Amino acid sequence: MPTIEVKAYAKLNLTLDVLGRREDGYHELRMVMQSVALSDTLRVTTHTGGGLAVSTDKSFLPCDERNLAAAAALRFQEAAGVDLGGAAIGIEKRIPVCAGMAGGSSDAAAVLRALDELAQTNLTAAALAKIGEAVGSDVPYCVHGGTALAEGRGELITPLPPLPSCHIVLCKPYFSSSTPELFRQLDSVRLRRRPDTAGIISALEAGDLEGVARRLYNVFEDVFPSRRAVEITGIKNTLIQHGALGACMSGTGPTVFGLFPEGDCARRAYEDLGQTYRETFLTKSI
Ligand code: ATP
Repeated sequence: MPTIEVKAYAKLNLTLDVLGRREDGYHELRMVMQSVALSDTLRVTTHTGGGLAVSTDKSFLPCDERNLAAAAALRFQEAAGVDLGGAAIGIEKRIPVCAGMAGGSSDAAAVLRALDELAQTNLTAAALAKIGEAVGSDVPYCVHGGTALAEGRGELITPLPPLPSCHIVLCKPYFSSSTPELFRQLDSVRLRRRPDTAGIISALEAGDLEGVARRLYNVFEDVFPSRRAVEITGIKNTLIQHGALGACMSGTGPTVFGLFPEGDCARRAYEDLGQTYRETFLTKSI
């Protein structure tokens, strides 16, 4: 039975802007996305003779079609018009769940890439991204990966020059955030500040890490309940004190990350935050 192993990389938001609410109920977004080496590992096997079987090392995750990896496999069969003859997907999770790092969407994108290879359908990344759109708004970006501008619901992807080389520390506080609740909050407040999307793109084009780090901004930080905001700010301050050029929350949180030019400083921040927060990682952009 043919099997392949694929990585599903976590994403960070270097910026996240919400431009408004659309008539279809979705929000119009503009985000600069970055994939990082922190990843889940998926083993995908076809022609297992049965239906679709998903397994994961995190018992609290669903293994039916509510798992985005399973949803992607079902959607792939339908859209590409292939019968996989049964499939098994094993997911080894490392990306924190409900953390603003698109772990589920990234697993879905990895399944699409794996099935394209196993079924020898040779679909382009754009075609796989289109299939992924129905699975989740972040899936098209996860199919492409790298540094990119994501607009619309998140499905309109424009590749950008890579983030200049740096060390990245990620830290997830112990609480989880509710994405629908944060969007509701956002609709009812006047934002204090907006990200400078054009400025961060210019800094990426110039290979200017400091310029990028100075412009990290996520509008959801403005609407976090105050007791949570204190914790987010505390983590950001720790990252900056250790030498991060900038720090920001990713997605709808609560993960916070910092960009470091120096590996030694990043390691000290990682060790310091790791004493309090179990889900702290030292990683690189990819
Ligand atoms: P985003 O950044 O796209 O908002 P997130 O990082 O906040 O996503 P995920 O970790 O992708 O959140 O998970 C969100 C929800 O998706 C959880 O409720 C989880 O049960 C469900 N889910 C379904 N499939 C997966 C998967 N393969 N990995 C993680 N979560 C999954």
